[in-house]
Amino acid sequence: MKFSKMFIPTTKETPNDATLPSHQFLLRAGFISQTGAGIYDYMPLGKIVLDKIRAVVKEEMDNSGANEVQFGFVTPLSLWEESGRATTMGNELLRFKDRKNSDYVLSPTNEEAVVNMVKNRITSYKDLPINLYQIYTKFRDEARPRFGLMRGREFLMKDAYSFHSSAEDLVREFNLMEETYKKVYTRLGLEFRVVEADSGAIGGSGSKEFHVLANSGEDTIVVCDSCDYGANIEAATRKPNTKDKLETIAIEKIETPNCKTIEEVSSFLNADAYYSMKAVIKNAIYENDSKIAVFFVRGIDELEETKACNSIGALELEDANEDDIIKAGLHAGYCGIVNLPKDVLVVVDNELKNDNNLVCGANEENYHLTYVDLTSIEGLKFADLIAVKEGDTCACCGGKLSYTKGIEAGHIFQLGTKYSSAMNANFLDSNGKAQAFVMGCYGIGVSRLVAAVIEQNHDEKGCIWTKETAPFTVDIIVSNSKKEEEAQAGENIYNELKQAGVEVILDDRINARFGFKMGDFELIGFPYAVVIGKKLADGFVELVDRKTLEKTDIKIEDITAKILELIK
Ligand code: ATP
Ligand code: MG
Repeated sequence: MKFSKMFIPTTKETPNDATLPSHQFLLRAGFISQTGAGIYDYMPLGKIVLDKIRAVVKEEMDNSGANEVQFGFVTPLSLWEESGRATTMGNELLRFKDRKNSDYVLSPTNEEAVVNMVKNRITSYKDLPINLYQIYTKFRDEARPRFGLMRGREFLMKDAYSFHSSAEDLVREFNLMEETYKKVYTRLGLEFRVVEADSGAIGGSGSKEFHVLANSGEDTIVVCDSCDYGANIEAATRKPNTKDKLETIAIEKIETPNCKTIEEVSSFLNADAYYSMKAVIKNAIYENDSKIAVFFVRGIDELEETKACNSIGALELEDANEDDIIKAGLHAGYCGIVNLPKDVLVVVDNELKNDNNLVCGANEENYHLTYVDLTSIEGLKFADLIAVKEGDTCACCGGKLSYTKGIEAGHIFQLGTKYSSAMNANFLDSNGKAQAFVMGCYGIGVSRLVAAVIEQNHDEKGCIWTKETAPFTVDIIVSNSKKEEEAQAGENIYNELKQAGVEVILDDRINARFGFKMGDFELIGFPYAVVIGKKLADGFVELVDRKTLEKTDIKIEDITAKILELIK
């Protein structure tokens, strides 16, 4: 391909709202063009990269034995009513009516569609397992589309759905998908980590995420410094943080004027904050109503909201405002576990289960209780609620846990029978008994990966594509295309590299100066440039490595062999 024939509109201007390097460089280097909030067009270079990533994903999915299909981008709302997600998906599900006033949605994911495809077509355990996937457009009306391709509203996803006759067989496929995903990210040249994850609104149990490590990642991942443990903070666990058990003593109520925070109370009572309870008051949102919920964690811990939300099966948690708190009969800063109003939801962190000597609010302005014994309170609901902190101890090996940032590039779930049961999709087992299909689902953010490659691989000048994702491997820069001999040498090397099977682009633009061509090379981020300039007279060209920006003089007759060696 030649620059003179390609549409590559590079620019120096960075749009105001583009804060991430991938967002800025993909726009500036002419890969993508924004048409609306979270909606992007792919220009020629962007389309090449997107297709390359898609091809790797397709090849590895095909190798795993999955079958490619394609679902309609538009699905009838009735399918979503069958599964119950017409209500639970909330506003991310974009609905519209057709001319006959029938309701439709733009597919944000396709569990319903795949169950509909398989239902009544696979009827016997003998035809299981099967894994169906597509690589196709999704639409989610995200509350905050941002960061360019990273969180779009319209985006490209690989979504796969597997059907099994048993939970064991699902686990086998789940593990196969994990191995398949690792091959995909490795081939793309990415540094990544597989972590335990929260299953979120899709439901089911057992899920793992694949994170591309990058400082700009939206997710906090907890990793161990001495073993393989890794988990999204939403699902991370630690070795329980324990201290000596104190004596059991009868409860006392103590005046604690104006002491609302754990620090204020502990210092007023001259007590160790470890032996105290922190109350976090939230407004829990459900399908048709909302409720006040109080979550208790140890005074030195923080609440993890996703865990808290899951513990009460809410759709989401909002901060409770002062009015909500007063209306519920609670006192901010003095909320405690004893004598709480009946209609608030209460959950206590697992690590407090055996504590018998704690300080907490007295549910009365300016008062706290001491010596509270949780083992004597009946009917308490316990769950894992804490946010693991850096420096906590790994539950697997005793090592130290720390944080790192990741971009979620894939997610695999063991769904179980959630959708098949809801949609009445059954097969006959070996005893001739009807059973709901056991399902798994597996996503890869194909368009998000375009951005993730750049988040992990860039410098202040622009993109640095990995070998497998680069739109072209080599950019031949003719310093001055008006000079006949330079232009001719460029053509010759171009033909030679093409013949050798190298993906190459020739910068043959007559009216562009060398500095401009070099700037485009650095901004676009092809792995290598071959510069044809002054040294041509002595029989040399210059090889530039985009990653290191190192320059080496190479004899013109050796350049093809040199490049083949580098990309081998
Ligand atoms: P997130 O937590 O980032 O919103 P999700 O849990 O909603 O992701 P899934 O439903 O598991 O994501 O979708 C599978 C994959 O699709 C994700 O791992 C991610 O790579 C990609 N993806 C999800 N939402 C978007 C989006 N708005 N834009 C681009 N890619 C996305
Ligand atoms: Mg999401």
